[in-house]
Amino acid sequence: MSLRRQKQILIAGGAGFLGSHLCDRLLSDGAEVTCIDNFLTGQLEYLTFARREPRFELIEADVVSPLPTKLTRRRFDQIYNLACAASPPIYQAQPEHTLLTSVIGTLHLARLAESCGARLLLTSTSEVYGDPEMHPQREDYWGHVNCTGPRACYDEGKRAAETLCFDLDRLSRLEIRVARIFNTYGPRLRAEDGRVVSTVIAQSLAGAPITIFGDGRQTRSFCYVDDLVDGLARLMAYDGRQPGPVNLGNPSEHTILELVEMVRKATGSSSAVVRRPLPEDDPKRRRPDISKAGALLGWRPATALGEGLRRTIEWFESRRLLVARAVAPDVGSTTRGDSPNRSAAA
Ligand code: NAD
Repeated sequence: MSLRRQKQILIAGGAGFLGSHLCDRLLSDGAEVTCIDNFLTGQLEYLTFARREPRFELIEADVVSPLPTKLTRRRFDQIYNLACAASPPIYQAQPEHTLLTSVIGTLHLARLAESCGARLLLTSTSEVYGDPEMHPQREDYWGHVNCTGPRACYDEGKRAAETLCFDLDRLSRLEIRVARIFNTYGPRLRAEDGRVVSTVIAQSLAGAPITIFGDGRQTRSFCYVDDLVDGLARLMAYDGRQPGPVNLGNPSEHTILELVEMVRKATGSSSAVVRRPLPEDDPKRRRPDISKAGALLGWRPATALGEGLRRTIEWFESRRLLVARAVAPDVGSTTRGDSPNRSAAA
């Protein structure tokens, strides 16, 4: 029998798209995992595998509020902060809460990490580069962000959270890792949450017109969720000197039109395309330079877009009713994230 103590890991935002995959991965690696989530976008259903594990604990709480004593009394080795809705219509519906989630939420988690000597990994975002003037984006690019626009609550919240982490690191109060995540997709994206891959798949499967914003020539780089989660785990495990922010994403760049064509083909859909104006501050190009992640972590994404889309479409197909409901009310519109996630999923 092994006497080695299992790693104690806290995942804030562990019921969401990326967080739930991370819970599954870390439990499979043998860790004891605690998840804290307010279920703004998280779904109990995503934790089906995790909740069968005695090494898993779920705490419902908001990281903007002081953390429950049940948590602050515990000792963790690692804390992952994924808490923050990533879908634009959802984070823009409650901008004040979005900003506070990144800033105050990260402060609360950082204090917990400091008190128990845990390493803290912040999931930052490619949005810190804004509408970038440098292409592809490297970590030493400072970004081109509008601090008063509708995306600022998310972008600036993440930038401030990064600042806090790097300041606490400079003061030697905390060991930190910061991942700048680029568009990630896969099973457990919600049909109605307004992200491009899930929206295009849902509309194609429902036979509804596919919404394209602008001329569709803007580019994105899409990373499959398993690859991304592997990158997060590697970054957390990295024991060298604090490496600064690290881009995690897939450098293979596609226009939105290309994505739509791939999804239409894969779903056999003959959906027409409807065009809408480009939202304010929407970035025109996005592509990560991942040479730093390659050199430090030996990481690069392994899943081609075609294969990742096939797996994602399969998952959406198994939920056709939910997909149809999500698309039905107004084609191309998105909901505001106030659905009763827990009761719907329980
Ligand atoms: P998601 O919306 O699916 O998950 C976010 C989770 O955080 C949800 O479970 C939500 O309920 C929870 N949450 C939100 N506010 C909270 C609060 N105040 N207190 C407690 N829990 C809260 O998003 P995701 O795609 O899984 O993203 C996870 C993290 O990765 C986010 O921080 C996001 O900014 C970052 N990120 C994601 C992407 C991507 O493409 N998925 C890209 C860049 C950055």
